[in-house]
Amino acid sequence: MTITFKYHPAMVAGVDSPQTLSVYFLEDRLLVKPEVLADPAAHFPWTYDTLPVQPKLALLLGELNGSPFRVVQLESVPDGWQDILLRDYLLRAPESSFKVINAAAQLRYWLSTQNFCSRCGHTLEFNDADRAMSCAGCGYLSYPKVSPCIITVIRKERQILLAQSSRYRTDMYSCLAGFIEAGESAEEGLEREVMEEAGIRVHNIQYQLSQAWPFPHQLMLGYVADYLDGELQIDSTELRDAQWFDVDRLPTIAPPQTIAGKLIRAVVDDLRQQGD
Ligand SMILES: [Zn+2]
Repeated sequence: MTITFKYHPAMVAGVDSPQTLSVYFLEDRLLVKPEVLADPAAHFPWTYDTLPVQPKLALLLGELNGSPFRVVQLESVPDGWQDILLRDYLLRAPESSFKVINAAAQLRYWLSTQNFCSRCGHTLEFNDADRAMSCAGCGYLSYPKVSPCIITVIRKERQILLAQSSRYRTDMYSCLAGFIEAGESAEEGLEREVMEEAGIRVHNIQYQLSQAWPFPHQLMLGYVADYLDGELQIDSTELRDAQWFDVDRLPTIAPPQTIAGKLIRAVVDDLRQQGD
């Protein structure tokens, strides 16, 4: 099913009504009905249901297929509902809901950190003129935070470098990735991250595509690069494992709706065609 999503031009409370679609969170857990948990690919996590509890936070995100769409933060799991870690949902979500939940989760997290003005300490308020929170004390405007990151597949003949993060216990392999530091270009950030995490140098750095990733407010800039020199040396604080994999003998890789999944599949298809 096609999803059309349009941002609301201001930062205003999401009002409950029978016409409003809501997506519910409990911190970084998505609250869903049992059928969504049983088969995330077949059911959307947003709903017209109104819940008989006072939300901790409710923000109007915009319009989803013509209906008002809000993100709501609750303080407990409502009766008859279940929870799923946001990351686990996104790794199982269809492309159609991936982008919308990505946006909702980022705004949910950001708004939960916007209680007081970072300049004068006054309470922040919704702003009906801009997509920002505003300070009634000093006029400071706080805009949603976006943190640019690089993510890259590295090619070495018919092999690609894939890694497992030390943060997650899973058999899935993905790309090297990291935050861009203040003052760096994306390409400089990529070269530094690859050296820090894998001990190698790369060249032919080519931009491919980008995708938001709500942990907590990343904008992943996706690249392909070629191995230049150096021995693989893993930074064990960041990575549990990293290996060169032949494109015909890949491990479990990131799912296709994620930018890592898209980058890996595109490079693998390309290298396999070159080999034919
Ligand atoms: Zn202020």
